[in-house]
Amino acid sequence: MNVTIDRMECVSCGACWNTCPALFEQNPCDSLSQIAEAFRFSGDRAEGVIPEDLVLCAREVVNLCPVAIIALLYDEPGKM
Ligand code: SF4
Repeated sequence: MNVTIDRMECVSCGACWNTCPALFEQNPCDSLSQIAEAFRFSGDRAEGVIPEDLVLCAREVVNLCPVAIIALLYDEPGKM
């Protein structure tokens, strides 16, 4: 499973990185959410591949994001 963040719409509420800190983190420069480096797809901080043990918290984050900009994808990122 893969994940995307529409970073430009992020309001930096912290829900994603507080709930699922292994997968999401706050970018220190622009303060927006990004995928943790270890899970990025092709180095893109807005797209990642979710390891099996983080799927549950990723699903929880999708429901918590107040601006609904986190999406889970079952296909390969970049081929939406
Ligand atoms: S939960 Fe959504 S709005 Fe909040 S920091 Fe994460 S991506 Fe940004």
